[in-house]
Amino acid sequence: MYRDQKVFDLIAQEKKRQMEGIELIASENFTSPQVMEAMGSVLTNKYAEGLPGKRYYGGCEVVDEVENLAIQRACELFGATWANVQPHSGAQANSAVMLALLNPGDKILGFDLSHGGHLTHGSTVNFSGKLYQPFFYGVDKETGLIDYDQMEETARKEKPKLIICGASAYSRDWDYSRFRSVADEIGAILLADISHPSGLIARGLLNDPLEFCHIITTTTHKTLRGPRGGMILMREDFENPFGIKTPKGTTKKMTQLLDGGVFPGTQGGPLEHVIAAKAVAYGEALTDEYFNYIVQVEKNAKAMADAFVEKGYDIISGGTDNHLMLIDLRSKGLTGKEAENGLVNADITINKNMVPFDDKSPFVTSGMRVGTAAVTTRGMKEDDMKKIVGFIDEVLTNVEDEEKVGKIKKDINEWMSGFELYV
Ligand code: PLP
Repeated sequence: MYRDQKVFDLIAQEKKRQMEGIELIASENFTSPQVMEAMGSVLTNKYAEGLPGKRYYGGCEVVDEVENLAIQRACELFGATWANVQPHSGAQANSAVMLALLNPGDKILGFDLSHGGHLTHGSTVNFSGKLYQPFFYGVDKETGLIDYDQMEETARKEKPKLIICGASAYSRDWDYSRFRSVADEIGAILLADISHPSGLIARGLLNDPLEFCHIITTTTHKTLRGPRGGMILMREDFENPFGIKTPKGTTKKMTQLLDGGVFPGTQGGPLEHVIAAKAVAYGEALTDEYFNYIVQVEKNAKAMADAFVEKGYDIISGGTDNHLMLIDLRSKGLTGKEAENGLVNADITINKNMVPFDDKSPFVTSGMRVGTAAVTTRGMKEDDMKKIVGFIDEVLTNVEDEEKVGKIKKDINEWMSGFELYV
């Protein structure tokens, strides 16, 4: 039988890369073997357009049970009453919400991409900035914290239909109640995209966005440690506030609109194998073992931030409340691109990142973003964070010295063999 050795050799190479290096990309993690087992299952063969109990295909009895399990566990995990677990990704979840609620040309207000926001929150290169009219809030130049006054001012002036909170590179907690107050004042819907800190939120380590935000979107593969994917949640359903009518002239509940935004709005058949893997990951996230893990993620991030500060690095906002931090490298005379390339040569993976008020392009940048979700899954503790920062500092002060960086890489590979995973 034909065996695609080429692809499996590449997968083996990638596994070796992941195991030998230090993974600090804040949006990455290592799923459990059972999450991968569910993803690599026969469920990939099944078409199941629609929702459990209301499918457009026969033979969906089993996948209905799987999807219902994922929905129930998602609701239990976040204290939600409704979930759609079908979005193929975080970007898909956001596109489904916008398609469900907005008309082309409607105003939206999101966190500026160059201050730590996400492309799907109104960037002009993304559907969200092309189809809708985007406005932005950002951080205060001095403190690096969200400028809530500016956000409220812009919201009152522009009266967007949708306000989005949440970020890709913001290390502090959010005051969701302040967003909700202004959303109520101007009659806007409030969406929290909790893709990054969803694991910390699920287990009560950060403010609860479901208490204040009408709709929640999240990816499932970052701190939540599930398969790559997305999800939409609500705690309370209500009649759509914008008078959106169905073809029959009736109005719909928000959850119906959102379900329609996913399918048939922006997707076809759901990936039931990925939904099964989401169910497994949500089940894991409800355990004490995961709670201990996510507490350690937060402790490790604080330890890492302290270690960077001790070595004279400039962390935006001065520290972290969650799993990540954004470091301004200008005081070290390096660009994000130089740091990323230098660190990759030592098998440390980070990503270059714009810092607020950056004067460099997104391809160069003045900063780097690091996170502790993946290294914590490898079993690391606070002391290991100090050691990692030591390695990073050694590489960044010797980026031009190939021999020295090569030696650090060897030390890292040897050290990482003590943090086994997937054996
Ligand atoms: N929203 C936020 C805040 C993100 O950080 C990301 C990904 O990094 C996304 C959405 C998009 O997720 P995906 O890459 O799964 O489309």
